[in-house]
Amino acid sequence: MELLKKRILKDGKVIGDSIIKVDSFLNHQLDIELFNEMGREFKARFSNANINKILTVEASGIAIACIAAQYFKVPVVFAKKHDALNIDEDTFHSEVYSFTKQKSYNIRVSKKYIMPEDTILIIDDFLANGKAASGLVDIVQQAGATVAGVGIVIEKGFQKGREVLRQKGIRIESLAIIESIGEDTITFG
Ligand code: 5GP
Repeated sequence: MELLKKRILKDGKVIGDSIIKVDSFLNHQLDIELFNEMGREFKARFSNANINKILTVEASGIAIACIAAQYFKVPVVFAKKHDALNIDEDTFHSEVYSFTKQKSYNIRVSKKYIMPEDTILIIDDFLANGKAASGLVDIVQQAGATVAGVGIVIEKGFQKGREVLRQKGIRIESLAIIESIGEDTITFG
């Protein structure tokens, strides 16, 4: 998606050898006009997939999942990362290793919100090593529901997420695929 690639080149910052900081438009301050275009693009790519629900993980997947959901006209469910008194006890859960935080955590979704008849689009902001997306796929499969695919805003093609999901037979649609990064350069695939 050209608009997104231009924005990454204009405002994205490379941190170390593998992290892209895009918090001026995607992760902290949100450019809603751009989000609308991204939501429209996800809908175009998955228009024939009979999606009836979008699943993401808190926090940074929620905004793009909600905007995309307006085009699909379906509800959004987000997996919770934090324990709270107000989450149902009956949950699907999966362990996820966080690439940015370098530690593992559990994600949980109430069994009330994913049903075997659901066809689910998983959406997230980044694909790195595929841990977050794999945890969400795991939860959908525990529920006996169908994964229509994974929609990613920025895929880092130099990490192994695509291969991990491909081995599970999951369709992946990324709006921008970064092939390599240098100290001050970002190259798309
Ligand atoms: P994975 O689970 O695929 O290894 O990593 C994806 C998750 O880690 C995403 O949910 C995202 O929040 C975070 N993440 C991975 N790489 C980056 C990055 O380069 N920049 C930012 N902002 N988040 C990232």
